[in-house]
Amino acid sequence: MYPHAILTNLLYPPACLLCRTPLPDSTRPLCGGCEQACPRNGPPVCAACGKELPGAFDALLWCRACRNSPPAYEMARAPWRYAGCAAEAVQQFKYHHRWRIGRRLVEEMAAAAHASLPLDDIDAVVPVPLHWLKRRLRGFDPVEQLAGGLARSLCRPCLPRALRRIRWTATQTRLQGRARRRNVRGAFAANPQAVRGRCLLLVDDVLTSGATAQACAEALRRAGALRVFVLTAARTSLS
Ligand SMILES: [Zn+2]
Ligand SMILES: [Zn+2]
Repeated sequence: MYPHAILTNLLYPPACLLCRTPLPDSTRPLCGGCEQACPRNGPPVCAACGKELPGAFDALLWCRACRNSPPAYEMARAPWRYAGCAAEAVQQFKYHHRWRIGRRLVEEMAAAAHASLPLDDIDAVVPVPLHWLKRRLRGFDPVEQLAGGLARSLCRPCLPRALRRIRWTATQTRLQGRARRRNVRGAFAANPQAVRGRCLLLVDDVLTSGATAQACAEALRRAGALRVFVLTAARTSLS
């Protein structure tokens, strides 16, 4: 161990970043208890949007929302349900810039990608973009960090400029259902040179109503992307 690492451990003994339990193994950001308490998302899940379908046993089943209006992406998957420790971990990364939790999220997302997405077909990773002004104000784009880490882990290029927000949108967290869709409709544009003819993995931190993923996938498809898959760290059980 390097001297500065020993000193850091003396000053700040390694502890779980969620519950502060001391950790014997300082390479993990969360203790075993908090890891266990992160709720997993499915299966069984909707074959399209990845929403948990309690009582379903058919891997090809679509939820009612996807049957009524098929999404512009092929599949959305997430390792965790956005609740309890998993929601806390995502928020710690997003709002408190806990890099080690970010790396943990990337590990989980990569495992979910290997388990449930046709990785051989996927050419590149595309983050859901922040508005350029928001990125400048925050100085940190958590989704771009996740997408970059995931791209490295999957050995694919990351295309952070393939999509951009072409208008300012209200934060989705305070909106519901139809208002979310209206809020992001037409908010994104894709660069045809970057996406035409390619099969893309769109990355976001949390999938809630799916409205943002839908608007991004529509923009990518309009610009000539062949297929779009979606991967988030967590998803809510709403649809
Ligand atoms: Zn803990
Ligand atoms: Zn669905």
